[in-house]
Amino acid sequence: MKLFKSLSLTVLILLLGACSNVSEGESGTDKLQIVATYSIIADMTENIVGDKAEVYSMVPIGTDPHMYDPLPADTGKVSSADLIFYNGLNLETGKGWFQDLLDVTKKNDVAFAVSEEVNPMHLTEKGKETQVDPHAWLDIQNAVKYIDTITKRVIEQDPDNKEYYLTNQSAYLKELNELDQYAKDAVLEIPQEKRILVTSEGAFKYFSKAYGFESAFIWEINTDSQGTPEQMKRIINIIDENKVPALFLETSVNPKTMETISNETGVPIHSKIFTDSLAKKGEEGDTYIKMIKWNIDKVVEGLSQQQ
Ligand SMILES: [Zn+2]
Repeated sequence: MKLFKSLSLTVLILLLGACSNVSEGESGTDKLQIVATYSIIADMTENIVGDKAEVYSMVPIGTDPHMYDPLPADTGKVSSADLIFYNGLNLETGKGWFQDLLDVTKKNDVAFAVSEEVNPMHLTEKGKETQVDPHAWLDIQNAVKYIDTITKRVIEQDPDNKEYYLTNQSAYLKELNELDQYAKDAVLEIPQEKRILVTSEGAFKYFSKAYGFESAFIWEINTDSQGTPEQMKRIINIIDENKVPALFLETSVNPKTMETISNETGVPIHSKIFTDSLAKKGEEGDTYIKMIKWNIDKVVEGLSQQQ
């Protein structure tokens, strides 16, 4: 009986070994399965994993990752994921939808915040100073930190392709550092007193600190009430006092409130701008690098024009 038991254990171990060999085999259908909570993190991840993994982006393009109702397809993808990347810093984690999804699918152990190496900035409005601001990726040097974390976690899951991932990482980091320099040079074209960036959500804290702007907003974070009379009065005063020449409208918010502000102040909405989502594939701004370049070019164009 004892012998039988130990034999069946051996058989079981052999079987398990065979199974895991199948799942890591070379059939081509068993790539690393990665879920990213939204398009920006998905694009960054794709730059590192290339054709060695499949990346599924959860929150649809042009919608708000602060608040989201996962679809059955999302739950399925998360359930079978080898790795899950999310921003953290009070983004998907602000109202709890993402934590609920991890709890339901029991995937906490393979979910990683790509922002884990970032120095968080906090909200500034009274009563909210203990909450962190999520939009760290809008400072390109934070994107560099995101990439380091993504690369590290991917290599942990798939060490066989380590060299491939490291090569992709170094090529992508070179592009990010060039973009960072491009941004720093470009903003010098804007007169100092005009470096004020007005958007609907206060998404540009990290960006403004990195590139020397002041940022102003209607509401501070998308999970706030949006467009209250107090918020409208406050931003109109800021626009008037600073003679702001141009307003910007994020692609992932309801445009109505900024349109009202534009009508009330007579200051035009100069351009759309990307904060919490990429553009649709094939449109301008459909990668992280392209969305940041778009933002910089439009901000420089809008704020340096003669009035
Ligand atoms: Zn946001």
